[in-house]
Amino acid sequence: MPDPAAPPTLVCGHCDGFPVVAIDSGTRNPDGTRRILKVACPNCEGAGTTARRAPVTEAASC
Ligand SMILES: [Zn+2]
Repeated sequence: MPDPAAPPTLVCGHCDGFPVVAIDSGTRNPDGTRRILKVACPNCEGAGTTARRAPVTEAASC
């Protein structure tokens, strides 16, 4: 059961919930394994979610 006190979160629209991808660099390590680059989503910085904005409850006064 989700914690009602926790702020609601949304899946990141930039990465669609897959925040980190592994890219094969094409080279190999000395032991023969592939050299992998892990890149995080620039929008959510690897979290996969974004904070839901609070609804506007009253008009801003200028
Ligand atoms: Zn993202």
